This record gives sequence, C-alpha cells and structure tokens, in this order.
Amino acid sequence: MNIILMGPPGAGKGTQAEKIKATYPIPHISTGDMFREAVAKGTPLGLEAKKYMDEGRLVPDEVTIGIVEERLAQPDCAKGFLLDGFPRTIAQAEALDRVLSEMGKKIEAAVNISVPDEILIERMSGRVTCKECKTVYHVKFNPPAKEGVCDKCGGELIVRSDDRGDTVKKRLAVYHEQTNPLLDYYDRSGVLCNIDGDRSADLVFEDIKKVLENLG
Ligand code: ADP
Ligand code: AMP
Repeated sequence: MNIILMGPPGAGKGTQAEKIKATYPIPHISTGDMFREAVAKGTPLGLEAKKYMDEGRLVPDEVTIGIVEERLAQPDCAKGFLLDGFPRTIAQAEALDRVLSEMGKKIEAAVNISVPDEILIERMSGRVTCKECKTVYHVKFNPPAKEGVCDKCGGELIVRSDDRGDTVKKRLAVYHEQTNPLLDYYDRSGVLCNIDGDRSADLVFEDIKKVLENLG
C-alpha cells in the first residue's frame, strides 16, 4: 500500500497518519518530522533546513528528495509506506515517480484532506506537540487531560516555532502557490481522492479508511 497524504499545513495529516498506522502496519514518513528531528539534533541537514522552516518556506527540492529517496530504500518500506508532507512541488512529485518506478512501484492513492484557510489558521495557532513522543494535540479541539502535559507519556507539550505569528500565513501562501498544483498532477494520474477535512478527526478517518479498503 503506497499512499500519499496531502493537504495544507494544519489539515490534519499527522493526526490521520497516527490513525492509519494503528490500522495498517506501514511506516509513516513525514518530511516535516524528519527535518524537525534533524534541527533538534543540530545535524548539517537540520542547520540547512532550519533557515527555510523558520521563514515558512520550503526546503530546497534536491535536499528533500534526497532524504525521501534514502528513506524509501529502507527495508520497512518494502510492503508499503505513508508519505506525509511529501511531495510538495511538481519537481518532488516527478522525482518520486522516477524513484518508485526504478523500484517497480507506484503511488496507489493520493489522499487530499481539504480544510478552509481560516480553520487552518485556528488549527495551527492552537497546535501543541509532545517534545518526547511527538503526539499532536490542540488546546481547544483536542486538549490533553492536563494542560502542557502529554497524556501518553507525560512529556512536555511545546508550540512549534513555525506555528507562530506570520509564519502560519506564509506557509499557507506557499502551499497555495507551490503545492496546490500537485492536485491536478495526481488527478491526471487517476489516484487523487478528495476528503472533506473540516469535520471531526474520527469522521475524516472513516472516509480515509473507505479509500484504503478499496485499494485491496
Ligand atoms: P498537519 O499534519 O496536516 O499539519 P496536524 O495533524 O498536526 O496537521 O493537525 C493540526 C492541528 O489541528 C493539531 O493541533 C490537531 O490536533 C488539530 N486537528 C487535526 N485534525 C482535526 C480535526 N479534524 N478537527 C479539529 N482539529 C483537528
Ligand atoms: P510540516 O511538518 O509538513 O508542516 O513541514 C514543516 C516545514 O518543513 C515546512 O514548512 C517546510 O519548511 C519543511 N518541509 C516539510 N516537508 C517538505 C517538503 N516536502 N519540501 C520542502 N520543505 C518541506
């Protein structure tokens, strides 16, 4: 099962990826998570990525394509994968097709979660993430039992630096300009599935499950 989760920042891709993983045992590959981990560790990749992330811009294609290509070659991707936040440009989508075809694989579904911009701003502005296990909460829509503390592991909940101020609006603008055109790309190849993401996370997941069940 080779799947892409698409949608603007704050649409609920990470939230749905957690649910998908619990039902289908495939690795969740989030380029955003990979970059944040590299930033936290202070690796050369992290230092490079941070410059772009702090400004709400995309990390250059050649850097991003390189880390995904390496990740897809890992043995745990043999039976499928769930890409989240990649591809985000036409060049990334074309590179992905090339890499997959060299492996004798292809994308079976591009699940696009759509949510209006004003809701996305509210979602990103209230997002908090566990510093330890990375579980995502929302201070209003999905709050932890105890403020600032992860229900799952007791870790500290932190606000992503790119979920603050003008960076949120910049990320949305970048999405509309550079990533939205990808929907046509996947529509043309017949794998695009549009899901209304402006509903509870459980209802959104019900629809995603229907799409994945049909893949067989
Ligand atoms: P993405 O990975 O697409 O950026 P997230 O899964 O991190 O999005 O979700 C963004 C924020 O919105 C989080 O705070 C999350 O708890 C919240 N959220 C996710 N899905 C929903 C939903 N269906 N309804 C309300 N809030 C949601
Ligand atoms: P995300 O967690 O998906 O919202 O991504 C956070 C940030 O990481 C983005 O704003 C970009 O700066 C960077 N990023 C994540 N995925 C990509 C990608 N596919 N291409 C370029 N930059 C990315």
